[in-house]
Amino acid sequence: MEIIANYINGALVAPQGGEYIDNYEPATGKVYGKIPRSQADDVAAAVQAAEAAFPAWSALSIQERSRFLLKISEAIDAKLGHLAQAESRDNGKPIKLAEAVDIPRARDNFAFFATAILHQEDEFHNMGEKGFNYTLRQPIGTVACISPWNLPLYLFTWKIAPALASGNCVVAKPSEVTPFTAFLLSQICIEVGLPAGVLNIVHGLGAETGQAMVEHPKVKAISFTGGTATGARIASIAAPQFKKLSLELGGKNPNIIFADCDLERAINISARAAFANQGQICLCGSRIFIERSIYEDFKKGFLQRVASLKVGPPQKADSRMGALVSKEHLEKVFSYIQLAQEEGGKVLAGGHKVNLPAPYDQGYYLEPTVIEGLAFDCRTNQEEIFGPVVTLSPFDSEAEVLMMANSTEYGLACTIFTENLNKAHRVAKEIHSGIVWINDWLVRDLRTPFGGMKNSGVGREGGFEALKFFTEAKNVCVNY
Ligand code: NDP
Repeated sequence: MEIIANYINGALVAPQGGEYIDNYEPATGKVYGKIPRSQADDVAAAVQAAEAAFPAWSALSIQERSRFLLKISEAIDAKLGHLAQAESRDNGKPIKLAEAVDIPRARDNFAFFATAILHQEDEFHNMGEKGFNYTLRQPIGTVACISPWNLPLYLFTWKIAPALASGNCVVAKPSEVTPFTAFLLSQICIEVGLPAGVLNIVHGLGAETGQAMVEHPKVKAISFTGGTATGARIASIAAPQFKKLSLELGGKNPNIIFADCDLERAINISARAAFANQGQICLCGSRIFIERSIYEDFKKGFLQRVASLKVGPPQKADSRMGALVSKEHLEKVFSYIQLAQEEGGKVLAGGHKVNLPAPYDQGYYLEPTVIEGLAFDCRTNQEEIFGPVVTLSPFDSEAEVLMMANSTEYGLACTIFTENLNKAHRVAKEIHSGIVWINDWLVRDLRTPFGGMKNSGVGREGGFEALKFFTEAKNVCVNY
């Protein structure tokens, strides 16, 4: 039984109340660990440690802070295999995906922000005869980072690294559904000698531990990634206290296939965009719009591609899709397949849970599911499902597909497939989303702004945007 601990003031400690939550392995449906069920007193201890560490940490030179973050990055790299195994076991994702994407990206997050601060320039505004302004960017103090279960270490470190690099001290909470690699990160921080209190990781339930972080008066900024409803709840608590907020929320992303696309490429990338990580990526393209003249060709090729996606135990090298993250989530996603049929949708592929032999017979497996024949404004096409379920819809004109693509409350990401450069740029300009890919998906340059519009969030992460979020700008005006 893997029993994990909180990381507070540089030490691994049990929750003060002594309570634990079960940690389930999605591949088998069995309990394999215990997670601290931390409460407000644990969060208070973490905030106190962060406050005590802040004067020394924020006073370090950027070179010294950079070196600490690089050491963490190197340690993640050295343990890549072990971390990938742990992530796959905790989340249900294929181990190959954790090895190729999740853990390398966690390593790169630290390396990226460790070096970004070395290149950051401050603003200067010249007023000529009258004088000039310069803008200091100063760390905020104690900040909270709260992340979801779908890309556990990847998203956790995407927040923690810029927060620390900017000179803040952090209290952080991973999702209680996937806490294990965050625990391994606390061991790494101890190994590399990160000063006590600079990073504190408190495990527990969102409504208890997470909310205690959001409510704590000394926490001055909150960086949150998760569902839109949780984001709204956090905003309602943080706004009256005037805390800085960065919210990366849900998505219902359109994937637009024009008749003049490279069809094979569009099919291959659309299949990945639909089913990578069992469809549990906020950027997944779950609404596929296809120009009518190539609808049948796309459908045929796409269904062939989907048929080759093997669902299996995450640890097996030939599994292309693993288990969904939890039983509750499996049931939620499955209920949308039933809803889609009630709404008149036809299931073209999948639609069933997958029963694997023991010891995986209680695991949370679902077939990659493709549905057609639904109206663009039905619930299946408007609500975030966050699982391996996609819909296919034909369109006749650019104006029509833009109307349908822009019809949801979300605005996170969009993918466009066309060989017509003008059309690609025109549609990119008109689409309501914070991120657009043309002829590709999930290509990430960590310098670019990342985030959504409408109910997909507030603010942007990535590059200097993140460093700006985690600092207060102070303008100094000088008169000659
Ligand atoms: P949740 O909103 O349920 O949880 C996210 C995090 O918030 C978890 O750590 C959770 O803790 C915590 N939390 C829950 N309630 C509270 C609260 N009242 N106060 C403070 N913290 C709280 O999201 P999921 O984990 O289910 O993640 C899936 C969602 O995340 C999807 O909607 C997806 O689109 C979105 N997402 C967005 C991304 C983006 O960049 N825009 C990227 C990835 C995912 P616990 O789990 O322990 O309860």
